[in-house]
Order: sequence, then structure tokens, then C-alpha cells
Amino acid sequence: MSVDAPVETLEFQAEVKQLLRLMIHSLYSNREIFLRELVSNASDACDKLRFEALGDAGLYESDPALQIEVLFDKDTKTLTVRDNGIGMSREEVIENVGTIARSGTKAFLEALEQDKAKDAALIGQFGVGFYSSFIVAERVELLTRRAGLTAGHGVRWVSDGSGQYTLETIERAARGTEVILHLKDDASEFLDGWRLRQIIRRYSDHITLPVMMRSESEEGGETERVNSASALWARAKSEISDEEYAEFYKHVAHDWEAPLAWTHNRVEGRNEYTSLLFIPARAPFDLWDRDRMHGVKLYVKRVFIMDDAEKLMPRYLRFVRGVIDSNDLPLNVSREILQSSAVIDSIRAGSVKKILGQLEQMAENEAEKYATFWKEFGQVLKEGPAEDFANREQIARLLRFASTQDSAAGPVMSLKAYLERMQEGQDAIYYIIADTLAAALNSPHLEAFRKKGLEVLLLSDRVDEWLVSHLREFEGKPLKSVTRADVKLDEEDKHPEAEQAGDLIERFKTALGESVSDVRISTRLVDSPSCVVTDEHDMSLHLQRLLKEAGQSAPAVRPILELNVSHPLVARLKSIEDDARFSDWARLLLEQAILAEGGALDDAAGFVRRLNRLMS
Ligand code: ADP
Repeated sequence: MSVDAPVETLEFQAEVKQLLRLMIHSLYSNREIFLRELVSNASDACDKLRFEALGDAGLYESDPALQIEVLFDKDTKTLTVRDNGIGMSREEVIENVGTIARSGTKAFLEALEQDKAKDAALIGQFGVGFYSSFIVAERVELLTRRAGLTAGHGVRWVSDGSGQYTLETIERAARGTEVILHLKDDASEFLDGWRLRQIIRRYSDHITLPVMMRSESEEGGETERVNSASALWARAKSEISDEEYAEFYKHVAHDWEAPLAWTHNRVEGRNEYTSLLFIPARAPFDLWDRDRMHGVKLYVKRVFIMDDAEKLMPRYLRFVRGVIDSNDLPLNVSREILQSSAVIDSIRAGSVKKILGQLEQMAENEAEKYATFWKEFGQVLKEGPAEDFANREQIARLLRFASTQDSAAGPVMSLKAYLERMQEGQDAIYYIIADTLAAALNSPHLEAFRKKGLEVLLLSDRVDEWLVSHLREFEGKPLKSVTRADVKLDEEDKHPEAEQAGDLIERFKTALGESVSDVRISTRLVDSPSCVVTDEHDMSLHLQRLLKEAGQSAPAVRPILELNVSHPLVARLKSIEDDARFSDWARLLLEQAILAEGGALDDAAGFVRRLNRLMS
């Protein structure tokens, strides 16, 4: 692209336009947040440069002292945030602040719709911070040059936020990015050095780079550092107030709310590091986006290294935010080294222990807080037993479930509490999995358990199948699904009818053929005539359904039909001589059992036909 390329005008996508309209017209509380966002972007840009320069020191050019400058000019009514970080190429400008909406745009718009205060503080989480410039500016200019490109590859981006922006290639000597806000008339409060310093100290004190402003007295003279630029985590715990921890959290997590809890530790000995880890009070919008992991930032001797260090936290703790600062890793550590570093492995193991310990304490001493945690992150923690074999027992102690004993209380039951309430002679922890809590509660499988007063855990999260396939036991007691064929409740007091049921069972087998793998007499039914179960080693019907819904192939497991031979309906079948009519009844009992499970029928039309035949 030549330097005198014409000015190109580009259009924002509809979603970005909507976002900009909101920024311009609807955000009234916490407008000053825009400055935090711009300073935070500038700081990220410097961190990126430092990281890239580890492999290519030439990127520093002749300007190695990374810093951020905030300047204002009352005459032109402009406020400028300038950094000498990584900068952007023309393509990167289009990608990052141009045409297409970023992944958080939609989530942000939705969050704002629900937010009556129209609070700008929400912005940070959603990765749309740059656009917050338009809360206070009628026109925004962004000048940038990427480190490593020559001066002729500078870019000038300008927009008034109304739907378009212009792009122009310029000659730019300075590396990095400069954002110039042409302030609206009602935003002149930001042309005040005292006010700006106050905002920077409030929101950006923890930025580890210096944020510089020109001293008031010397017009056009020296600049001075505004923020303390010290690493909070490196200070002694006793010197840090809760407010400071909370502000720091908001900065690292891009959150607007204080965290639920934190743990701050200095580890000494063979492996020296400091960790400051937070548990947020609310799930981020992208919690389920398993590819997006940017929870814990890695530093080496106070120098930021990277923030998507997924080696630092397992996925089931992806909600954890914070920093880990190692004294042992080399400063030029690369992603490749991180992949197979014993130092990292031990830091990770130690940090996981800290978080799990923190959660355990919370569960024991602060029930209400723990309930909040469980509501927000319980489903993620349930991935733990599958992912982290070594800590399985500890994770299992943190799990909470709804149960038949008090289903209205919600998921508050721990496995330990279950064990304490177990009946004399009970040798398993019983659970049922269904699509919803209501479906679980109404399942015919629970009838006999209820009658005998046996407690059953009610599982209805999507992740539950995954959980129970990895958590096979707790403190020596196996977890057992009530829908498994080998759960037999009262073999000793067999139904008297069972003795003569042999013929009936045979007729059912003939009538149902390949649709079932077996027909048996049930010990688990009280009010329902029939139910379906699966063998211990077969995949559960619920899991088969989940896999099918997810478009994956599931082995076709044929269910076992269980009959309640004391049920009047089943008893009556013995007197039906006509084979065709008997076969209709047999199918119907199988089909209603599948429906009661929440399953779908292969031949729904056939079911309706049979039902109508029998009703008429
Ligand atoms: P976020 O910073 O959360 O990703 P923003 O809307 O604030 O979202 O910024 C969008 C992107 O634009 C950033 O991810 C970054 O790639 C780029 N960007 C913004 N400001 C700068 C800057 N000062 N220097 C370099 N790149 C920047």
C-alpha cells in the first residue's frame, strides 16, 4: 500500500452500529470508564510488544522504555491516550476496531438491555472497550504503526460513530498507537488534569507500566508518573486492603463487580512464585466458550509474559482470574517451553490446591457465598472429576445436588451429607439423571425408593452424565443410577404374582422381539405398570439421547423392559387371548415407559394408532 493511497471509507456491520448508537446515546453512569478501557488497551499493547520482542529485540527500535501517556488540550478540546506498544497494521485495524462485530458485542448489547442504570462499567468484560470512546467523543481518531513495519505503513482511522469510518495510510515515525478523542461539549470535565489523575489512580493504578501526564505547572514541559505502577501481588498481604484487592481484581478480570473470594500466596523453597487468584461473583458471558481462556496472567519477576496461559489452570477452573508471578522461569520463556515445563506443572498443581482449598473453606464457613459460587460455576466444577484425577476426592466434596429428600431446596446436598443420612445396610449412593428436575422427580424409577425412604440425588445438568461416568464412588460407596438393571431393592419379598408370571414374560418377549434386550419382573415399581432400564455396562438411555441430539453416533442399546406384575393393567393382560391385541398392549407398555423417561419414540404414528385401537 503506498503512502498516498486515497482515503478509504468503510461501513460498520449492523451490530457495531447498534453498539455505537448505545455508546453515544444511552450510557450515563460511570462515563469515565472509557479512560480505563483506553489505558488498559495501551497497557496490553505494551505487554504484547514486550512478549514479541523476546524473540526479536529489533522491535523496540530505538525506543525501549514502554509507557503510556495521557494528554489533553483545552483549546482543541481533545484528550489523547498514547502508547509505544505493538501498534496495528492496516489489516489489524480493520479486524480489531473496524467492520465486524467482536464476539462480545451481542452479549454486551443484551446485558445493557437488562441494565436499567445503563452503566458503562459493564463494558470491560465484553471486549468492546475501544468503542467506549464514543461515550464522550463526537469524533475519534486513531493513529498507529505496528512495531517492525516502516514509517510509511502508519494508519489513520477516523469515525464519528455514526456508521462509517475512514482509513488512510500515513507516514508515522512513532511506533504504537495514539487515540485522539474530540470531546463532546458535555464531556469537558475530562479536560481537567486533576480529574484525569483521579480517574487514572482509581482505575489504572495497578497497571504495571507508568502512565504519564504532563505536570500542570510546566506547560509543554516534563511528564510525570501518575499511577503507582507497582505490582500489588508483590506487596505483603497485611498491607493490602480489601478495597485494593477488589480494584485489582476488576482490573485483571475486566469485571465491574467485586470478587467473591481470593487467595494470595507466596510460595518459597525449590520453586518460588507468588499467586493472587480470584473467584468471581458472576459467570462471564463466555464461560461456555471452551476455547476462550484468559483467566490467569503469567508474570516472570514482575514482567508480564502472557495471559492465555492455559497451562496454569485446568479447564474446570476456567472461571479463576488473577496473576501468577514466577521467580524461576526465564524471562524469554516461550509458549513451547511452557508446554513442558516442570516449574509450570508444579505452579499449576499448587494453584489448583489453593483454589480447591479456598472453595472448601467457603463451603464450610460461608454457606451463602458458596451457594452463589455453586449457582454460577457449579456446572463447570462438575467437569473436574473427569479432568483432574488426582484431586477427584476433593472436587467430589465440593459438589452439590438436588435430592428427593428436599427437592425444593435446590442443589444444596453434598455427598458427605448424603452418606450421613444413608439407611442401615444401604450400600450405594443412588441418583437419577433426567432432562429436567421435574422429569427426574416424576420418574417411575423412584417409586420403590420413595416407598422405602431411600434418598436419591436428582441430576439434570447436561454435564451430569459426564460427571457420573468419571465419579464412580465417593468414600468407598459406589454411585448407582436407579435406572440400572442391577439396582434391585427387595429380592427377598418377591411379589406373589411373580411365581405365575413366567408365561406372561415369554409372551412379552415374543411380542416385542428385537425392540428390547430382555423383559423382567420389576422390584422398583409401585404405581406404574412398566419402566425401561439398562444393563450396568450399557450406555444409559439418557446419554444416548444427549449424544444423538449433539449429532454424534451412539451405539443402539436396546432397553430392558421391567413389568410391575402387581399392577392391575399388567394383571389384566394375562386374560387377553388375541395375539394381535396382546402385542398392541405390550408395545404400549414399552412406549409409555420410554416416554416417561423423557425419550422419543422411533414410531410415534404407530404409537398413536395402537393407542386409538385400544381405546375404541
Ligand atoms: P479488548 O481490548 O477487550 O479486546 P477493545 O474493543 O478494547 O477490546 O479492543 C479491540 C482490539 O483492538 C484489542 O483486542 C486490540 O487488538 C486492538 N487494540 C485496541 N487498542 C489498541 C492499542 N492501543 N494498541 C494496539 N492494539 C489495540
